[in-house]
Amino acid sequence: MSRERLDKILALHVTDSRKDAGAMIRRGEIAVNGKVVKKADFKVDTLLDEVTINGEPLSIKEFVYLMMNKPSGVLSAARDARAQTVVDLLPPVLKRRGLFPAGRLDRDTEGLLIITDDGAYAHRMLMPKSNVYKHYEAVLARPVTADDVAAFENGVVLKDRVCLPAKLEVLEEGEHPLVRVRIHEGKFHQVKRMFLARNNEVLKLKRVKIGALVLDNTLKPGEAREMSVEEANSVF
Ligand code: URA
Repeated sequence: MSRERLDKILALHVTDSRKDAGAMIRRGEIAVNGKVVKKADFKVDTLLDEVTINGEPLSIKEFVYLMMNKPSGVLSAARDARAQTVVDLLPPVLKRRGLFPAGRLDRDTEGLLIITDDGAYAHRMLMPKSNVYKHYEAVLARPVTADDVAAFENGVVLKDRVCLPAKLEVLEEGEHPLVRVRIHEGKFHQVKRMFLARNNEVLKLKRVKIGALVLDNTLKPGEAREMSVEEANSVF
C-alpha cells in the first residue's frame, strides 16, 4: 500500500505548491472516493483511492499525454512571464507538474498539439529519424500551380537549405485556396517558409494530424483531453 498526504499528491500532480493545494482542499474542491475532504494531511492510498477535483477524476499516473486543439494567439510553451501559454489553458483536472508541449506551433497556428510530461516520448517524436509525418491545412494568399506541387515533391529550396520531399494537395480551389501539406521535418516556420519560397503566403495554418493521430474535432479551440497510451503512440 502506498499512502501519501492529500496536499502532497495535489502539489505533485496539480498545483506545484502545498500552499495552493491546501487552498483547494479548504475550498472543498477535492473529494476522495466521492467524499469531500477538507484536511490537507488526509492520507490517500495512491493505488486504490479515487481523488476528484470538482467531481473530475485526477490522474496520478506516471505520465500523461494530452491532445489540445491549440487556438491562435497562445504560446507553445510551458510558461512565460508575459504571454498566455498552452499549459496555462489547461483546466485544473488536466494540469500537473512538468507538462510541456511536445513540439511547437507558431503563436498564430492552430490545431493539434500534444502536451505531456514524458520527456523520452517527446524526444522520440521530434527526432528526425523517427520520420513522424505532420499534416497541416493552410489557407493561402494565392492559387497553387502544378509547379508548386512538383516543387514540394522534389524538396522546396529555402535560402539556407533544401527541404525534404513534402506533399501538397489542393482541397478547395479559389482565390485563397485551402491546401493540405504533409511534411516530416519541423524546422522554424517550416510551412510558411516553404510557401514564401514559392511566392505564396500562408494566411491561416492548422495542424490536423501527427502520424496516425488525428485532431479530435469535438475539441473546441483551447480545449484539451487526455489520450490513451495507444493513442499517444499512434504518432509513430
Ligand atoms: N510550420 C509553420 O510555418 N508554422 C507552424 O506553426 C508549424 C509548421
